[in-house]
Amino acid sequence: MDSFATTVQQLARPAVRDLVPYSSARSLYGGQDAILLDANESPADPLGQGTGLNRYPHPQPPPLIVAMADLYGVSTDRVFAGRGTDEAIDTLLRTFCEASEDSILVCPPTYGLYEVAANIQGAKVKEVPLLTQSFALNAAGILDAWDERCKLVFLCSPNNPTGNTMRREDVAAVCQGLQDKAVVVLDEAYIEFCPDASMTGTLASYPNLVVLRTLSKAWGMAGARVGVALGHPSLIALMNKVRAPYPLAKPVIDQVMPQLTAQGREQCLQRSQEVMRRREQLNDRLNGFACVEQVYPSEANFVLARFKDAQAASKACREGGVIVRDLGKRPGLDNCVRISVGTDAELQQLFGILEGLS
Ligand code: PMP
Repeated sequence: MDSFATTVQQLARPAVRDLVPYSSARSLYGGQDAILLDANESPADPLGQGTGLNRYPHPQPPPLIVAMADLYGVSTDRVFAGRGTDEAIDTLLRTFCEASEDSILVCPPTYGLYEVAANIQGAKVKEVPLLTQSFALNAAGILDAWDERCKLVFLCSPNNPTGNTMRREDVAAVCQGLQDKAVVVLDEAYIEFCPDASMTGTLASYPNLVVLRTLSKAWGMAGARVGVALGHPSLIALMNKVRAPYPLAKPVIDQVMPQLTAQGREQCLQRSQEVMRRREQLNDRLNGFACVEQVYPSEANFVLARFKDAQAASKACREGGVIVRDLGKRPGLDNCVRISVGTDAELQQLFGILEGLS
């Protein structure tokens, strides 16, 4: 066992460390061509078209795991696939945080689910806010705030809702500073919109780093609910003890797999470049409106802007048939609104509404 394999066992909840996981039928005899009388399934396929819907899916379908490993340039034992990265976040909490005892660390303003998942698990939440104005990571502050009951540190790059990426040196400093002390979860849900900033390629250098990737954003498949956690094989093995027996539905796998070809990747790249072009257009136009005070530079598929009156602006948008996200009540985000990069036509409609506001 390498030293991080030992660390991961120490960081995990004792109940998970000692858990004998549920062994589902399809994980034992998934791929064999045999008569399957082991899982109380229907022998008949109700749709009668060879859909295989009468059978439980593999808990971590090997073709999907192979495709995701290839897509992200890691070995298959570093991939945990779930119903979106949301499920990976929840699974990490349940794997590492003992209720009332352990904590996570978050850097607000950031994606709200880290805190909600912690609340559900009964874990405490430490906050080390992003630096004001730049929204950069306070790496030294994170290392200072850490204590031995703090098991997970959530970083998000590009960050939702601010749109900026975290500096690689800062992420690296947090990983190194907390090596053998905590798991650093780097959420790269939006990284395809600024691929050069990805730290997925550094996983082998930082054993305590877990990177989250998703098919929901640049891949355009939010409805499929497929996301992955990529990390040290011993950590992935622990997450697999905790996850639901069959998280990924067969029709989802059947629809997603054909998208993950070389051609699918090329199309994803082209779509992302289009989004990046429209993001700059959105940024430029927002800067010109009288109702907008500041536009934050974004590397994601949305833009955060500070309005003179966020409530009035989002109300006007709503009345004009466009829904934007009013974040004005969140600490550090006074009068801020987050706007997704829509199609050219959708953005034109938005611009028409904002033009009429002062
Ligand atoms: N991380 C971030 C930063 C997000 O903004 C979101 C969703 N908006 C998610 C994760 C969840 O993504 P998924 O659809 O993969 O669950």
